[in-house]
Amino acid sequence: MTRWLAEQAWLPDHAAPTPDVLIEAEDGRFTAVTPLARGTSPQTGVEVLAEAGRLPGLTLPGLANAHSHAFHRALRGRTHGGRGDFWSWRDVMYDVAGRLDPDSYLALARAAYAEMALAGVTCVGEFHYLHHGPDGRPYDDPNAMGAALVEAAAQAGIRITLLDACYLTASVAGEPLAGAQRRFGDGDSLRWAQRVDGFRPAGPHALRGAAIHSVRAVPAEQLATVAGWAYRQGAPLHVHLSEQPAENDACRAAHGRTPAGLLADRGVLGPDVTAVHATHPTSADLALLAEHRTGVCLCPTTERDLADGIGPARLMADAGIPLSLGSDSNAVVDLFEEARAVELDERLRTRRRGHFTAAALRDAATVSGHAALGWADAGRIAVGERADLVTVRLDSPRTAGVPPVGVFFAATAADVDQVVVDGRQVVRDGRHLTVDVPAELRAAVAAVTGD
Ligand SMILES: [Zn+2]
Repeated sequence: MTRWLAEQAWLPDHAAPTPDVLIEAEDGRFTAVTPLARGTSPQTGVEVLAEAGRLPGLTLPGLANAHSHAFHRALRGRTHGGRGDFWSWRDVMYDVAGRLDPDSYLALARAAYAEMALAGVTCVGEFHYLHHGPDGRPYDDPNAMGAALVEAAAQAGIRITLLDACYLTASVAGEPLAGAQRRFGDGDSLRWAQRVDGFRPAGPHALRGAAIHSVRAVPAEQLATVAGWAYRQGAPLHVHLSEQPAENDACRAAHGRTPAGLLADRGVLGPDVTAVHATHPTSADLALLAEHRTGVCLCPTTERDLADGIGPARLMADAGIPLSLGSDSNAVVDLFEEARAVELDERLRTRRRGHFTAAALRDAATVSGHAALGWADAGRIAVGERADLVTVRLDSPRTAGVPPVGVFFAATAADVDQVVVDGRQVVRDGRHLTVDVPAELRAAVAAVTGD
């Protein structure tokens, strides 16, 4: 039994945080969550309170980073100057992709996931497509690269949903994979399913999921194989959708349908499916996503960085589409920034304020993200849920004087002070307990960039 006394805790279905909450957990689950009357503890023994660990600041449920490509962390600061667009950025990304092997992938992902832990992320959705050796030949263990990611998350102390991506072609027109892309391909969707079937992620911290890289990368007639595999496994299925207008144009030219329309036609959409980005959907696309109860994962800092555009977050929410958040390219790892961007970018677009409540942003960063990754029992500080806690300082230069309800508009990842994952402390006093994050990031990035 572990007990914490949170100075402030944000409980489910509360519009604002509650002061003085006694939180108890055993075997990685919350067993009691008790708001105490301010300054008194009538129903709680003095000894109980004395032994409870103090959590000064605001304690949140675990944050879920629902969309990550761990190796993109090596590109941070290397692709942001000068001109260029998504496609020129992608060329640089392919360069790094070409250099990774299972050992360097483990080192880089371990450091990247430890950075996420420091930022309060208790679960990552890794959208994984770097499957094979540099020439496209499988490793002896054809899932060696996925296993490296699962191990990296274990060593960083966070949970992972490995979204194993089917990636077969270089364009909607079906051009073959070339260069660094050869590492991504399994040949066809049946062989993808065979490989994924053979993968058993080691550890209770990991779940297996599926991904369709995009309509560019999986031919229309093979989409149903991937969706069917995910459906039979009860696994989450993610897909990059309409990140770029060029993808919409190419899909219309080849199939006479938008990407969302094509996915709907092929039976891909459903309640366990998450469309990543959905920056350029039509109103009919939004209706389709809503009708199938398909979620959307917004990645605002990446969408800014790549000049993608601003997704219609308010229209999505109005349609009943669940919203989650991802750091995607990991140029920024800060779920507070992703969350407030949902509101602030909408303000830029509409020149109006007040689209999302603080509680709605919290839900996108916590419970909705966990649900999108297949962890229906995480993201809420409530009895029976996984014991994830993220405590944010309210006395830092950024947060001093900020009311607890305003934290999503004021805090950054640097204000995260304590992180508990499944009942186990991973970050204490702003430091990762097992990983020297800056040193490991420096070494792992140097190893794959040649610097
Ligand atoms: Zn992505």
